[in-house]
Amino acid sequence: MTAHSNIYPTKALQELDAAHHWHPFSDMKSLNQEGSRVITHADGIWLTDSEGNRILDGMAGLWCVQVGHGRKEIADAVYKQMNELSYYNTFFKTTHPPAIALSEKLAKLAPDHINRVFYCSSGSEANDTVFRMVRTYWDKMGKPNKKVIIGRWNGYHGSTLAGTSLGGMKGMHQQGGLPVPGVHHIDQPYWFGEGHEMSPEEFGVFAARKLEEAIDEIGEDKVAAFIAEPIQGAGGVIIPPETYWPEIRRILDERDILFVSDEVICGFGRLGEWFGSTHYGMKPDLMPIAKGLTSGYLPMGGVMVSDRVAEGLMLSGEEFYHGYTYSGHPACAAAALANLEIIEREGLVERVKTDIGPYLKERWLKLGDHPLIGEARMTGLVGALELVPDKKNPHRPFKDVGTAGTICRDISFGNGMVMRAVRDSLIISPPLVLTHEEADILVKTAEKTLDETYQVLKRDGWIG
Ligand SMILES: *Cc1c(COP(=O)(O)O)cnc(C)c1O
Repeated sequence: MTAHSNIYPTKALQELDAAHHWHPFSDMKSLNQEGSRVITHADGIWLTDSEGNRILDGMAGLWCVQVGHGRKEIADAVYKQMNELSYYNTFFKTTHPPAIALSEKLAKLAPDHINRVFYCSSGSEANDTVFRMVRTYWDKMGKPNKKVIIGRWNGYHGSTLAGTSLGGMKGMHQQGGLPVPGVHHIDQPYWFGEGHEMSPEEFGVFAARKLEEAIDEIGEDKVAAFIAEPIQGAGGVIIPPETYWPEIRRILDERDILFVSDEVICGFGRLGEWFGSTHYGMKPDLMPIAKGLTSGYLPMGGVMVSDRVAEGLMLSGEEFYHGYTYSGHPACAAAALANLEIIEREGLVERVKTDIGPYLKERWLKLGDHPLIGEARMTGLVGALELVPDKKNPHRPFKDVGTAGTICRDISFGNGMVMRAVRDSLIISPPLVLTHEEADILVKTAEKTLDETYQVLKRDGWIG
């Protein structure tokens, strides 16, 4: 068959897919029996499947399509670049205009103390780069004992060896015997699930002090870095209490370790600033980026490097033995530049902060009144709904964690909208171009989905 066509019956496509295509993060046995949904087109915030159904993309692909689908100007920029220079590496003392232009642009957008970017092709590779970069930095600074990297349980930093290790997904650790040595995890600031015996403010400080305890236990002279997402995405849109980041900042200010803000989701406007760490007033030493950098039009990631780390790495004049064939790929850089230009021209970052963000939030939080919902939360354009069996006792989870979430997710798909299920929460992260009208459709569809899910759960004895 040819790549782009849906002239084949859906069933035939599903059979070929089941026979030959191994999907990421999937139970392939049951997926192959069920058959994948085939997406054939997308435009703006709308996907079209092989049956002609239109589906509201409440997840912006996979947290990445900031500018919406089908922007011709990105395709044109890539086409033009590929006709001029489709590929050359940046290893052999060479560079090219797209990599130069993108680096200058990113340095302008980043906080003042961050002026350089190392390129790769994904968020996972960015965090593999981080892993080697922070350890190498301390070697060069004459402190080779500083090797331990502290991450958080239920954090997500990608799926490669280093990404999985830095992340705190226990199921992922079990497959492959991870984490690698030298990674330590502290608890996450998940007030609804783990901290409700305190006020959110108390719990935020309590959770932050886990970092202080860990550094003191391991020894400041052995700790290289702390890595965290400003808001945990894949872990279930864990929005920390307002007291969390200020307390983390205090702890980091008092100790000489590097801070890595994983901006793969929170960067490029998701929280109403160019970078999520800016929203929380943090000053990172390194920022892994990917996803929204190109809005997913082509794969590209990077690590934004502060002057402190860059100068440290350059101290001895020795090579940093690290790089990827596709570091700074010209076509990907062209896609990123066109994408950033759209974000700037259409004021999407500001829009999230002052317009569509508050508009959607107001309506999303009202879903918290639904009998199935224990908590509705949102910051910028990323939000979650916690499904609970007993609203009067909201922190008590369902007996079989994950079932209610999956049922609700499937009902949402059936109602023409993608929401993602994490445990028994439903999460959204829509494109930043979402209009008010589309936000109304999103909330209405979510409401209908909750009503229907409630009925199914009641019928099957999960609630009441
Ligand atoms: C998605 C994600 C990654 C991994 O990015 P990939 O491009 O999938 O490798 C890393 N960190 C965070 C916070 C992410 O959400």
